[in-house]
This record gives sequence, C-alpha cells and structure tokens, in this order.
Amino acid sequence: MKSENGPSAPAGTLYEQALALLRRFYGYRAFRPGQWGVIEAVASGRDAVVLMPTGGGKSMCYQMPALLAREGCAVVVSPLIALMNDQVQALQANGIPAAAVHSNNSDTYNREVMEGVFAGKIKLLYISPERLLADMERWNPSMPISLFAIDEAHCISQWGHDFRPVYTSLAVIKQRYPRTPVVALTATADRLTRDDIVGRLGLRDPFCHLGSFDRPNLTLRAFPNPGSAKRVAYIAGMVKKYPRDSGLAYCLSRKAAESLDAKLRAKGIRSCCYHAGLSAEAREEAHRAFLHGSVQVVCATVAFGMGVDKSNIRWVVHNNMPANIESYYQEIGRAGRDGLPAEATLFYSYGDVITLRGFVEESGRVAVNMEKLRRMEAYAQARVCRRRILLSYFSEETVHNCGNCDVCLSPPRRFDASVLAQKALSAVMRTRGRIGVFTLVDILRGSLRQEIRREGYDLIPTFGVGADLSREEWLDYTGQMIQLGLFEIAYDRGNVLVPTPLGLRIMRGEEKLELSEYVAPRAVTAREAARAMTKAQADASPVDEALLDHLKSVRLEVAKAIGKPAYVVFSDASLEDMARRRPRTREEFLEVHGVGEIKAAQFGPRFLRAIAGFRCG
Ligand code: ADP
Ligand code: ZN
Repeated sequence: MKSENGPSAPAGTLYEQALALLRRFYGYRAFRPGQWGVIEAVASGRDAVVLMPTGGGKSMCYQMPALLAREGCAVVVSPLIALMNDQVQALQANGIPAAAVHSNNSDTYNREVMEGVFAGKIKLLYISPERLLADMERWNPSMPISLFAIDEAHCISQWGHDFRPVYTSLAVIKQRYPRTPVVALTATADRLTRDDIVGRLGLRDPFCHLGSFDRPNLTLRAFPNPGSAKRVAYIAGMVKKYPRDSGLAYCLSRKAAESLDAKLRAKGIRSCCYHAGLSAEAREEAHRAFLHGSVQVVCATVAFGMGVDKSNIRWVVHNNMPANIESYYQEIGRAGRDGLPAEATLFYSYGDVITLRGFVEESGRVAVNMEKLRRMEAYAQARVCRRRILLSYFSEETVHNCGNCDVCLSPPRRFDASVLAQKALSAVMRTRGRIGVFTLVDILRGSLRQEIRREGYDLIPTFGVGADLSREEWLDYTGQMIQLGLFEIAYDRGNVLVPTPLGLRIMRGEEKLELSEYVAPRAVTAREAARAMTKAQADASPVDEALLDHLKSVRLEVAKAIGKPAYVVFSDASLEDMARRRPRTREEFLEVHGVGEIKAAQFGPRFLRAIAGFRCG
C-alpha cells in the first residue's frame, strides 16, 4: 500500500467549489492537513483509506465528497447510534440534509428516511452495519449512491482492538456496487490492521492518507500507581494548575469513577462522573456540564469520550492501565486538540495487568489481545522515549527522542541493584514459589498483616530486609525485575512469581543488575498552583471572559429552545472567536469560525443582539 500524503495542487474548479461549500455550510476557511487529498480522490470515484488521529477531521473526508456529488446519497456505516445521532444533528444544524436509520427509530420513521433517500432528498445517510447488511438486498438498484463511508473501519480486522464480526460482511458492498467509491476511516490502526481493512473490504488501489499520529504538544508521563490518596492529590494538583480548563480522569470501573468523583468533590473540586450505568439524562447532563465548562473534571470509564469534541481539555489522567495502546492513544488524544500544551499521565500496576488479563481471557481472541496488552505494559514501564514507542506502534518512523515525555525530560538515573534483586529473589525462593508481587513487597517491607503471619512469612530471614524502601519503590523495582526477565509471573497459577535462570544467577552473585531509579509522581505544589491562578487571571482579558460566559448562557438558552444539545448550536471554539471578534453585522458574523450560512441566519440575530447589548461589569 502506497502512502500519498502530499496534497495535490489545490487548483481548478472542484477545489474552489469545495472551498465555497466549506465556507457556506461549515463556516470554515480551509481544509485540515490530508482532507483535500482524500476528498479529491473520492470525488473522482476512487476508493480510499483514511487514518487520522481522533479529532483530525475524518468526517469531512466523506461529507465533502457527498456534497460535491451532483446526485446520490452517501451511505455512512457507523457502529454507534449515539455517534450517528450527533453527526446527523450537527449536519442538519448546518443545513445539510442528513438522516440516520437504526434500531432505535420506529419502522415508519426508517421507511420514510429511505423514501427520502430514494427521492434524492438526503445527502448523507447514516446506518448501522447490521441494518445495512439486512436492507441492502432490498434496495432498489436504481437508488443513486454517491459513495460508501465505513467509519471505525478497524472493527473489520481481527488485528484491531475492537473487532466486530458483522463488519467482515461489509465486503458485499464492493461486490454489489463495484463502481461506487468506498472510503474506510479509522483513528486506530497499525500496519497489519490497515492492510486487513483494504483486503477485507475488497478496495481497489485505494488512495491512502496516513495522517501523522504525533501530538507533540502532549506531555507523556507514566508512574507506578502510588495509591489512591496520592492519585487524588495529583489530580487535584492538575485542577489547580489549569484553573480555567478541564480534564478527564479515566477509571477502570463504575465504582472507581464514583468513588474518585466523591473524593474530588470533598476537596471542593467541581467534578462529575460518567459511566454506562448512569441514566441517559444523567449522562447527557454530565456531557453538557463538561462542554459548558461548569465542571473541571469528569471521572469517567471508557464509556466517556466517543464524540467528545472539546478543544481545551488540558489534561488526561489514567488511574489504571488501558488494555491496549490503541485505546490509550485515543483517550489521551482528547487532550490538547487546540494544539496548546496538555498533559497525559498514566498510573499502572500489576493489579491492572492481572485484571486486564482476566478480560483478555474472556475476550475470545486471546492471542491478539494478550499481545496488545503486553505492548501496553511495556509502554507503561518503558525507560526510553515514550513517544517513540507510541509512534513506532502506529508504524511511524522516529529517529529523535521527543523531549516532551517524562523519560526525555528527566532521564532515569541508573544504579547497581544487585543487592535489591538478591533480597527479592531470596524471599521468593524461601516462600517456595507461592507468592505474587504484592505479598513479596509486604514481606520485604516487614508488613505484619494477617496473611503474612498465618503463612509464617514473618519468620523467613528476608522478612523486613527491604524496610528502608517505600512500597512504591519496591513495586517499581520488582516491576523492572520482571521486565528484565529475573522473574516470570505464572498467570495460570494465581499470578505467583517464578525466578528464571537469569534471576538465579543474579541471586548467586554471578551476574550484576542495573535498574532505573524510581521517580515518584509529583503533585502540583501550592506555589505552582498560586502562580497558575495569577497567570490565568492575567491572561484572560476580563471583558472577553465575561462576554464569553454571557455567550455561553445565550447558547444554552437557544439550545433549550430548539431542543438540541448546546454544541449543535455552536462549539466552544466558535464562541471564543465570537467573543474576540465581537461582530456587529451579519457579514462580520459570517467571519466567525464555524459559522456557516444556515447558522448565521438561524442564530445570528440572537447572538448579535447579545453582543451589542453586552456591557462589561
Ligand atoms: P474525527 O472523526 O477525526 O475524530 P471529526 O470529523 O469529528 O474528527 O472532526 C473534529 C472537529 O474538527 C469537528 O468539530 C469538525 O467540525 C472540525 N473540522 C473538521 N474539518 C475542519 C476544517 N477543515 N476546519 C475547521 N474545523 C474542522
Ligand atoms: Zn520522549
């Protein structure tokens, strides 16, 4: 597969037409990197594969060709009903005729939509893969289709982290409609997955856009989990460091999300929680509060994030390790979309690995998922540039260290850890291979908890010989020892530690061991917090801030009146631009980022009045 990243010379009428549509319907001035190349290819009838990081603007790659097509409707296959509805609402708000067909709609409604498609009244039809496969046979062959777009196309691949068997049947699209272009889009695919997408969909000589996954403005960090209290302090520190912005704290379970939320609120932080167990209204409310900026933190499970489009998320903290690098990258990619500095911190532990292995065992695709978990684990524990690991995972070549990850920013100091290793190995030997990492650390630190005494571990000679190091230090060092192959974890036997031949040689003093010094996560200090607050106050011109707040309340009012979510009216980025420009006329209003003709007509008067009538103070 060839990569064709270079944009072709943007000239000629098609490009001008596209730019005019972009301004008129979306209120945007230019295409983002990569978009035009794909649009041109698809508009000229070619298949395409689009890899762009989340937020890169994939949807435009099929929406614009759909608008450019003189006749016919674009059929967009999307796996999530919520996502379809978001897209349809956003398109409709811009005056583009779009609709969705899925199982949450009534049969009558779905039938009406299909009639609209056939009558040429709809430009974009969103549909679930199940529905498409069930219905396509019955579609009238003369129904004009401009293109097919397969969103979240990695779902087709056995190698993807989110394989959905129904996706494999989508090959029939190309068989039934050999002359209609098919564009496959995804934010997450390594080389194997990418080739798999092309093969399984039967794409012919597709145009490939492989967008760069590099997000140089994200500072990457990873720490062994220092325990709940320190994690909460760390997150509270982030809130103080970015007093005007918001962040995401990902948790592994609903319970964990709720408990973190409670702890943060007890500290006076404006936090809320989001998980699939909440009612639809509660989720909508959390979403809204987050977009509106009235909460500083969302404590969320992975259920949060699909379709979140907020440009000023300044930080993401993972309280646990995700199951694979694809998910991790997607989750941290929600921060810093505005290109300004943002931070991503990962806390990991062996407990996470053990939990995740349990999920993998049940996943039905044990080999692939286990390998993905292993790569994630290696990333978490890495002592080399983290960005290089991420980029090479997505098959991007890297030759330089990034200078913006914890490893680059403070290169780990190495020390002779032979004696530490001997203590650990000896404890494992003397307990006859019956202990896991946590018990090992407790023995070394001389913990007298019940199980230790019951098993008589407090009587072995190595009991308490490592009391000079903290629990976190021991967890980190034993983790490194496992990575370096001194122990293996017998996952099939209660996760006990098993010394390897290398471990035994080190124990006997036949070989030395070097480790990297433990680095503790450092929460933001009171002084840093005070400085951040002063800076935030100085940065914000008070008039703009007050106007922005006012515009947000107008947006809310308008949204309520039309019964749509606030972001369908205008994005934060649009309101910020509006507060800066303070347009006075319709023409000036059309200059605002994200204001197309429809929105100018529908909402312009209300917002212009709000701006004209606004007095500071
Ligand atoms: P993805 O699907 O790649 O995560 P989206 O297609 O949802 O990203 O686009 C992310 C955001 O970027 C959306 O708000 C979209 O309207 C906006 N966007 C897309 N293309 C452009 C553009 N050319 N100029 C400005 N904003 C754009
Ligand atoms: Zn780096």
